Amino acid sequence: MTTPARIPGRRFLHSPGPTHLPDEVLDAMHRQPVDLADPRLADTIADSEAGLKRLVGTADGEVFMYTANGHGAWEVVIENLLAPGAAVLIPGTGHFSDSWALQCEALGRRVVRTPWREGLPIDAAEVEALLREDRRHEIVAVFAVHTDTASSVTSDLDALRRAIDAAGHPALLVVDAVATLGALPIAMDAQRFDLVVGASQKGLMLPPGLGFVAVGPRAHAVSQANPAPRFYWDWGRRAGEQPYRKFCGTPPLNLLFGLRAGLDLLFREGLDAVHTRHRQLARAVHAAVQAWSAEGEVGFFCRDAAARSVSVTAVTIGGGHDPEALRRVARERFQVSIAGGLGPLAGRVFRIGHLGDLNPAMVLGALGGVEAAMLSLGIRHGRDGVRRAVEQLAAD
Ligand SMILES: *Cc1c(COP(=O)(O)O)cnc(C)c1O
Repeated sequence: MTTPARIPGRRFLHSPGPTHLPDEVLDAMHRQPVDLADPRLADTIADSEAGLKRLVGTADGEVFMYTANGHGAWEVVIENLLAPGAAVLIPGTGHFSDSWALQCEALGRRVVRTPWREGLPIDAAEVEALLREDRRHEIVAVFAVHTDTASSVTSDLDALRRAIDAAGHPALLVVDAVATLGALPIAMDAQRFDLVVGASQKGLMLPPGLGFVAVGPRAHAVSQANPAPRFYWDWGRRAGEQPYRKFCGTPPLNLLFGLRAGLDLLFREGLDAVHTRHRQLARAVHAAVQAWSAEGEVGFFCRDAAARSVSVTAVTIGGGHDPEALRRVARERFQVSIAGGLGPLAGRVFRIGHLGDLNPAMVLGALGGVEAAMLSLGIRHGRDGVRRAVEQLAAD
């Protein structure tokens, strides 16, 4: 095979993870590791833990990091909170809630589901009804995917919290915020989440490879009472200050250097400003998709405008067109990488990621590249997409 020619300029990365890496993160990672007793490593870990606690909004919770992707962090939650045979309620949000449920079942746990309503967020009333039916309180926890990256739908976690309270059920509320941290506010203590799950390669602007959980006191107590054997994933073994213990072996030093730099960028910009920027960029993307869907073969997958994610937008594509062909042309000809459909949405949608280290010009470039790709493939769409996005940005 011949090596492809060098691509002039930059290729725009608009998948919803991995996301674009800021130069500050790349620079921080581009260095020799240090020995494990070097105090610089302990400092980096301490700063990262403090930064993650601030990011998820917890003073009471404790952060545990793992050399793992998001699925690894899911397994941390399962192994620590649920004994084999124990039950968990997973409200349907799409591919990611389905995948987490399958992982629970593969590990011998019981899953109670609410059905996934395509294009719609979690139905809190249904969750409440299921919890009321569980009179013996066998359900240990509710595992909720905040933004399902496959369907680009964000659910209302406060409504979910109220539903659990209204049912008078002691189930823990566990939140997968992998696709929302660094894009939407999360206030773990104030919103009374018992555990928050995150991963490095989305709003944290890092390469993949670092997963983490922020564990509140109630989740801690449940894990301590869980007799299931476990080792690598056991956060109980990660107590103490020794980096080697904290990571059950060698820490991913260079990812940690990058994490500290990425968190520093978020705090220097200011979390409020970061969240405002994400809302504005999302509004620009949504304006473009709205215009594209005015005529032709593309449209929003999310049917509830209020639940559209600020991180990613799934766009349906009809008329027999293959989203994978669109991705190829967008990537290879116009240098814009977008994502495809996952699970039941494979072949039905493409997805534009708009989270992480992005600005208006990058988002406009991505929308222009997607529009050019649709045009060159003869995918019918309203032609005002980029113009509407420009107008939205100018008005915001
Ligand atoms: C990406 C993602 C995951 C899984 O992360 P991996 O690193 O791909 O294992 C889990 N949950 C959500 C909401 C995600 O967006």
